[in-house]
Amino acid sequence: MRLNSILTNELRLTEYQKGALKKLDLNTIKDLLWYFPARYEQAGELKTIADAQPGEKVSLSGKISNLKLEKTWRKKMNIARATLNDGTGIIKLVWFHQPFIANILKERETITVSGKIQSGKNGPYLANPQLLKLNFDSWDGLMPVYPETRGLSSRWFNFTIKKILKKILDENKNLPDLIPEKILQTYKLPSLKNALVYIHTPKETKNAEAARKRFAFEEIFLVQISRIKKRLALEKQASFPVKIKKDELNNFTKNFSFKLTEAQKRAVEYILADMQKGSPMARLMEGDVGSGKTAVAAIASFLILKNGYQVAYMAPTEILAKQLFESFCDYFAKSGAKIGLLTSSICRKFPSKISYQETADISKAKLLKWISEGEIDIIIGTHSLIQDRVKFSAKDKIIYQEKKLALVIIDEQHRFGINQRAALINKKNETDQNIFPHFLSMTATPIPRTLALTIYGDLDLVLLDEMPPGRKKIITEIVPPDKRETAYEKIREEIKKGRQAYVVCPRIAASETLELRNVEEEYEKLSKKIFPEYKIEMLHGKMPAKDKEEIMQKFKNGEIDILISTSVIEVGVDVPNATTIIIEGADRFGLAQLHQMRGRVLRSIHQPHCFIFTESKTKKTAERLKALGQAKNGFELAEYDLQFRGPGELSGKKQWGISDVGMEALKNIKMVEAARQEARNILQENSELKNYPLLKEKIEQENSDIHME
Ligand code: ADP
Ligand code: MG
Repeated sequence: MRLNSILTNELRLTEYQKGALKKLDLNTIKDLLWYFPARYEQAGELKTIADAQPGEKVSLSGKISNLKLEKTWRKKMNIARATLNDGTGIIKLVWFHQPFIANILKERETITVSGKIQSGKNGPYLANPQLLKLNFDSWDGLMPVYPETRGLSSRWFNFTIKKILKKILDENKNLPDLIPEKILQTYKLPSLKNALVYIHTPKETKNAEAARKRFAFEEIFLVQISRIKKRLALEKQASFPVKIKKDELNNFTKNFSFKLTEAQKRAVEYILADMQKGSPMARLMEGDVGSGKTAVAAIASFLILKNGYQVAYMAPTEILAKQLFESFCDYFAKSGAKIGLLTSSICRKFPSKISYQETADISKAKLLKWISEGEIDIIIGTHSLIQDRVKFSAKDKIIYQEKKLALVIIDEQHRFGINQRAALINKKNETDQNIFPHFLSMTATPIPRTLALTIYGDLDLVLLDEMPPGRKKIITEIVPPDKRETAYEKIREEIKKGRQAYVVCPRIAASETLELRNVEEEYEKLSKKIFPEYKIEMLHGKMPAKDKEEIMQKFKNGEIDILISTSVIEVGVDVPNATTIIIEGADRFGLAQLHQMRGRVLRSIHQPHCFIFTESKTKKTAERLKALGQAKNGFELAEYDLQFRGPGELSGKKQWGISDVGMEALKNIKMVEAARQEARNILQENSELKNYPLLKEKIEQENSDIHME
């Protein structure tokens, strides 16, 4: 048996189990060995059969006999039975629904079991005891509990993993360890072999902890190596030199209707320094919704076009792209810049031929031509920007002065895949393959610092951690189910004053398995029963772009009173007259996410309100939601989310590609910094990882996986 052996060839599995393994994406022996316990349970105290009393939770160690598998004919239930004898007495063991037990145990084998002693009419017995095959002397009684799925119980994982772990260790003298020996020693981390044993069969709590720490370090270390490798390679590239005339810049910002915040000024300073370095800027600007990222992006764009280059600015949705386009038209109204908007359904240009104040719709062919000929200075758009037809250089054309794409900006960057970002960056001039555009990435998703340092390890960070002055604070209320009516009454008051409201639901439609508030049902209820007097519409990601656009425009124009939507599509949408937001099923969202959603009513000159509804009555939920009223900004909430993240919350994997064990590492800034430093050291030794063939192979394999996505 090898680590890369295929599970279905090595194990006897039912079709159902095969399906369940596939669902968990467990394909090889290695995958299964890397399927870690979510937690450990304490086994009962080790006793003799003679001493053990009914009702007591105990561990018993003895020889097994009378092993048999039965099937009740009526219910077709599998029952495995055995007898345990420890010399002081005998006790019956019975397992329901776990036929595999009979395959795992052997007659006369010595085993340890743990469970609660039941008294039956034929004497005491243990029902469904945990099975522990021990080969150590001292033991804290820790039993691993694995995340279960239908068809694969924690017990199944426990038995199966132990069996294959033993086999692997017997047959493979040495498991290749990705972490260099020296690093293991420096941080006192267990070797791969020990860590696997510790994590699946810990003798003591501290073994399990050491093992988790090792795997956590490994995961973060690997991410860091691949990010820093990319970063070091980028630093060797050339970019467009940007000359900066301070007075021109001052004239540009003087036209803004506000003064920059200190945080915005700092971000501008960083960007100025980046763009003069000679190598490409690679910067991520993080700031809450409303912190003024667009203004900073406009300043960066201004510098680029003053140097005779072009800017491409990509946003994840048409609504956002359109809004950015409109903001840019304002910021650049007096500077003579030519700005384009390109989405799948809109092609627009500013200024129009007729008026310097207005925009005009134009044909796609014309817009594409103007981009390539350098007629457009700044092109803003959605994914449409990365289509092949969009070209930033006009081959064989000498009539126009040829411009070059020198700055790529991406808004809400986590909504794009790595490949999409790369595709836009690669739109750089075809005649200049060796010169790279500057890159500015932005996100309003507040994430903890340790996570940012990891997943964005190839970028420099700058935080807009300050809101423009005079912003109102949102009054946030957590509404228990019985106070729903009062909240609706308050919304009615707001609407009577001429304001508008959002209602956000965790799902679009009702589902059979999950009882969750959803857009469609909420729409029915609110429009027919609760607020029949108001104009209500719904908006969600499954609607055609044109319909979304139309609804959003109507909402902006004040033709809709209440907009019911899901959380994902309209982050960053700007409707100053919307003062109230209701968030349904709040326990389904992270705190940072809730914070971001309520930010939508922050644009208002009126007092904004946020009503948080939850059907959950647990104390933990209440505690968590309370933090929303107390935290200063989204970053604080993101840290809180991380620290109080329960086991099994897999959003890390889904959202950031970081496993549960890896997420644990992110609670520890020291560990993240150590992993980062070690990754840097190794790459500085040799940027191709020549001395670390295993690491080299692993990183290359991961990069090729990304490209295949
Ligand atoms: P973000 O993209 O970070 O969500 P925007 O750049 O869209 O934020 O800015 C939000 C609003 O705040 C816009 O209406 C913008 O005009 C305004 N704004 C930006 N910076 C400032 C500032 N320094 N002072 C006052 N208002 C500002
Ligand atoms: Mg924005």
